Amino acid sequence: MRLPKFRYMEPKSIKEASTILLDEPGAKILAGGTDILPNMKHKVELPSVVVNIKKIPELDFIRKDNGVTRIGPLTSLKKIYQNESVKAGLPALASAASSVGSYHHQNMGTIGGNICQQNRCKYFNQSQWWRSARPLCVKAGGEICHVVNREEICYSAYSGDMAPALLALNARIILESKEDSREIPLETFFSGDGKAPLNFKRGEILTEIIVPEGSSGGFSSYSKFANRESIDFPIVGTAFWASTGEKEYRVAFTAVDRRPLRGRDVENFLNGKDLSDEVREEAVSIASKAATPVKTSVYSPSYKRNIMGRLLRVAIDEVMRREG
Ligand SMILES: Cc1cc2nc3c(=O)[nH]c(=O)nc-3n(C[C@H](O)[C@H](O)[C@H](O)COP(=O)(O)OP(=O)(O)OC[C@H]3O[C@@H](n4cnc5c(N)ncnc54)[C@H](O)[C@@H]3O)c2cc1C
Repeated sequence: MRLPKFRYMEPKSIKEASTILLDEPGAKILAGGTDILPNMKHKVELPSVVVNIKKIPELDFIRKDNGVTRIGPLTSLKKIYQNESVKAGLPALASAASSVGSYHHQNMGTIGGNICQQNRCKYFNQSQWWRSARPLCVKAGGEICHVVNREEICYSAYSGDMAPALLALNARIILESKEDSREIPLETFFSGDGKAPLNFKRGEILTEIIVPEGSSGGFSSYSKFANRESIDFPIVGTAFWASTGEKEYRVAFTAVDRRPLRGRDVENFLNGKDLSDEVREEAVSIASKAATPVKTSVYSPSYKRNIMGRLLRVAIDEVMRREG
């Protein structure tokens, strides 16, 4: 498959990159390229200008300042799971990064690109030839969502591995444009609209991911259930964070909704409780009702809900085992 025609630019600063995005509404950022380039070959993303931000020097870093972990968006997934401080303090993040695609995706792919990746759907992630058998779907520029067979919003599923781990760690992000900079909770970055899943303002670039101090203390894990052990997106991914001393818990899921989801009902049930077999089983039951997936892949919604609960059981079991 060939890439479509596009102009190519290599800005040397965030301001320069943002100016290109503001001047060219059809421009798109390229980081590692492992998500956008296949989409361009499938002709589902057709940027007029490809803006390679890899030449911007200040975007590739992992720093720890007073317990707060700061990660630049151009940091490769491989650097994340090889970083000693991440491995020791934020194992969910290391585990999520090492679960992405293959070694090559982890080497090329960045954390920023992973967070900002396009939603996925069996009707969208296909070649132009495959898609030509039916009318264009909403996400590809048409009017119908084939998943729900309605002219409504796009129901494609957010399927990134890093976002659920970061949500369970209460991460925040910094978005910068030519004139402005804002820091927001990562959770509010996801729109819930499969067609435009990210709440970017025009000209904005993701410039930093921040994991607060408190999140380094507790237990954290990311469990991914996929068809194959490598080169595969999650059927379901579940992240869990626990501070058993404080009796505080956080849960997040991916690939079950149009956005990565915090499992608030599960958290509300668990918070303030000691973990036990009974508590775990009730949490598992709540987790399996925490989302209403639709059939964006070959896997049925009920199968996905079942897996959500099962992955949470694995995580809680691990905490209980460690606590003795
Ligand atoms: C075969 C295959 C298997 C894969 N398996 C997985 C998997 O298991 N799990 C998973 O999560 N992903 C998977 N991916 C998707 C992809 O490889 C990863 O998500 C990767 O981390 C994307 O990072 P990137 O730097 O290559 O992103 P890019 O492709 O460069 O960019 C992705 C998107 O993010 C935007 N973007 C990138 N950086 C920024 C920024 N700083 N600010 C604003 N926008 C930005 C781009 O414009 C683009 O829309 C897979 C891809 C393939 C082809």
